[in-house]
Amino acid sequence: MSLEENLSGYKGLALQVLQSIGAEIGDLIRIVKGGRVFEGILIPRSEYGDDKHIVIKLRSGYNIGVRLTPDAKVEKIGRGEKPAFVAPPLPEQNPALPKVAIISTGGTIASRVDYRTGAVRPALTASDLYSVVPELADIARIDAQILFSLYSENITPAHWTIMAKTVAEKIAEGVDGVVIAHGTDTMGYSAAALSFALQNLPVPVVFVGSQRSADRPSSDAATNLTGAVLAAAKAPFAEVAVAMHETISDTSIVLHRGTKVRKCHTSRRDAFKSVNAQPLARIKENHITMLTEDYQRRDPSRRLVVKPNFSDKVALVKFYPGMDPTIIDWYVEKGYRAIVLEGTGLGHVSNRLFQSIKRAVEKDVLVAMASQCIWGRVNMNVYDTGRDLLALGVIPLEDMLAETATVKLMWIYGQTDNPEEAKQLLKTNIAGEYSTRSLYTVEENKP
Ligand code: GLU
Repeated sequence: MSLEENLSGYKGLALQVLQSIGAEIGDLIRIVKGGRVFEGILIPRSEYGDDKHIVIKLRSGYNIGVRLTPDAKVEKIGRGEKPAFVAPPLPEQNPALPKVAIISTGGTIASRVDYRTGAVRPALTASDLYSVVPELADIARIDAQILFSLYSENITPAHWTIMAKTVAEKIAEGVDGVVIAHGTDTMGYSAAALSFALQNLPVPVVFVGSQRSADRPSSDAATNLTGAVLAAAKAPFAEVAVAMHETISDTSIVLHRGTKVRKCHTSRRDAFKSVNAQPLARIKENHITMLTEDYQRRDPSRRLVVKPNFSDKVALVKFYPGMDPTIIDWYVEKGYRAIVLEGTGLGHVSNRLFQSIKRAVEKDVLVAMASQCIWGRVNMNVYDTGRDLLALGVIPLEDMLAETATVKLMWIYGQTDNPEEAKQLLKTNIAGEYSTRSLYTVEENKP
């Protein structure tokens, strides 16, 4: 650890003072100021904090920030015990139980806050997992691995490739299912990516995240993780899914198909919804109930086909009133192969964009249309705007999520360079991304 990491969040004057007395996070500090004495453990500062305060945890448990005025005297009075997490011994693995691989990529579910110092660290080694959720040992033999420690907004198509290959390795080793712990923000994109990259799956691949970290009383991490491991170990489906809370209470976990799922709330535990589809399954009291008959069955003898490449030359462009059409031109000039337009209503954009769309199509840039309504199906035959766009060569995306369509096109252009073949692949239902009929029951599944 560098000196700055040992003094995480401190900068400027506060950093200088702490370095001059050789203090590190976790040390006992005394600050004498204005005739008052403050003693406590030095704790990290927020990176947005100023450079004039030192924050200590008092013996009472309260944290206080002491401003460094010229008369303040700071000294180190003891070496604090450094933040060390001692993992409990691993439970006995029951050889009769199914084997589940847990691959951690980061996000809240993989983090643990050390409340003594405030440091956040990835926590999904096998022993950390059992310490947070010991009941996992009753469901499966767990093989846990940290692949990345990333907030999911930093995950890129290149990470999807590594994830897909890692899952394939675990399946080749003979696991009964795979769980991928992931930040919730882009979990839907990664789930869609692996739905296309991992075809003909023999066992389930279940993404899981949490809205609140495992060490908070209100955390959804343990319930979500238990549900995901149970699904990976025993669910009858062999598809890529996302396991998250069904409601705001802890009573059920729902499994969404990887191509039909979206984060629809910033903070609620039931943020994830299946869009234009029924969820695959529900878990209640450790029992899995399938909610659809239309799914690929688990079959360990099936041979996995791995197609892990993605292109990053695909854009998702949301239309808005007054949008400058040269935005489309910019993508074409930059060599993008496909543009997913998130149009209004049934699949419209202003006729001011028509010329740019025409030029894009002429240059073999695939232009496809999803709806920013989210729920419902694109229908470009109702109004003349839609019919004009169809005539320009825009491809309607039916009821596919715009995010899924973007990922699908990234995947398609990772497989082929041929625009005609790309068009055919886009229109083919590969991983349940198109629903064959519109469901009227999705209302129940809305936030
Ligand atoms: N924004 C981070 C992520 O998506 C943390 C939030 C979370 O894990 O839900 O990874």
